[in-house]
Amino acid sequence: MTDLFSKFDALIAERKALLDTGVRDPFAIVMDKVTSPTEAVIQGRRTILLGTYNYMGMTFDPDVIAAGKKALDEYGSGTTGSRVLNGTYQGHKECEEALKEFYGTDHAMVFSTGYQANLGMISTIAGKGDYIILDADSHASIYDGCWLGNAEIVRFRHNSVEDLEKRLARLPADAGKLVVLEGVYSMLGDIAPLKEMVAVAKKYGAMVLVDEAHGMGFFGENGRGVFEEAGVADDVDFVVGTFSKSVGTVGGFCVSNHPKFDVLRLVCRPYVFTASLPPSVVATAATSIRKLMHAADKRAHLWKNSKRLHQGLRDLGFTLGTENAQSAIIAVMLPDMETTVRMWQALLELGLYVNMARPPATPAGTFLLRCSLCAEHSDDQVGEILGMFEQAGKAVGCIA
Ligand code: PMP
Repeated sequence: MTDLFSKFDALIAERKALLDTGVRDPFAIVMDKVTSPTEAVIQGRRTILLGTYNYMGMTFDPDVIAAGKKALDEYGSGTTGSRVLNGTYQGHKECEEALKEFYGTDHAMVFSTGYQANLGMISTIAGKGDYIILDADSHASIYDGCWLGNAEIVRFRHNSVEDLEKRLARLPADAGKLVVLEGVYSMLGDIAPLKEMVAVAKKYGAMVLVDEAHGMGFFGENGRGVFEEAGVADDVDFVVGTFSKSVGTVGGFCVSNHPKFDVLRLVCRPYVFTASLPPSVVATAATSIRKLMHAADKRAHLWKNSKRLHQGLRDLGFTLGTENAQSAIIAVMLPDMETTVRMWQALLELGLYVNMARPPATPAGTFLLRCSLCAEHSDDQVGEILGMFEQAGKAVGCIA
């Protein structure tokens, strides 16, 4: 018998070698207690959270929590099945109404995660003989959506409008085409030049899907995402998003004005063949989405935090993923795996939690610590965070 697990031996050995050096396992952190959107207790220590996607700090919003509790009491803990086969709950409809209002679209469809939203949308709408044109640094859920379907896959260089156009120009003029873009790219925190990219896609007759997972809540006048800020809402055919970040719970969605959109409820397998979200989750999502429509103050504070942390880290001498603060994600670039893990651990011991990222999550050869800010981080916390980066950076030798 060939052990099917032997293909993982190199990875297991690499992991063991890392842990043998005495560092904590960056991928096995347990939050003993979470006390607010910005703080937790990890191994008995008060720790500032700078590695969540809780951009708007909605996880502890009293109205959101109350809505979840009420739905639990009134509808029970779960739906135990698919909406198509086992029934839609009132809460799913209300959540879709909230999304339609938030995005100003005719249609909204809720999936059980953002991953499934990309998987379902991309694999279903681009079929045999069609082309999917995607950024090389696309999220795993976008790639997996391509692989689940039957379309031809064409990649272009990350954020290159020129390369996108070159590749579109080579495709048959009458073939179906779907250009897939992200508003914010989650590893470096850079944003896509959506104005130019969407214009190129339309020039070549392609439909456009934009994943706004990391842009919802705080880009654009209504917090719809980078596409809103770029002024291209009328030319984007599908917006995919998640409830796991700014919305503060779990779930995914797609919104669109396409007149035939609703047929997807019958043909989109990652929608049809999986259980729908529990009533408490859709109730918290709907409440949160409605509150995000009036969150200008939070939005402004999040931007203030992001700009201050970016500038502060630069001033300390760290190399960052972007020239200026383009989103609420700030990537601290480090030379290799060992330095990255040592820095990550030094920060954790001081009481700061950030994300450690390396290939394949990051572009090839890139090691980084990802910081993601929250609208609820106080000015004092941002000051503390900078102090901890200075202390850890000097101890590890990343900065002078
Ligand atoms: N798209 C992007 C760009 C993401 O970063 C993520 C999650 N990190 C997803 C989709 C998937 O979202 P979810 O967590 O809801 O599955």
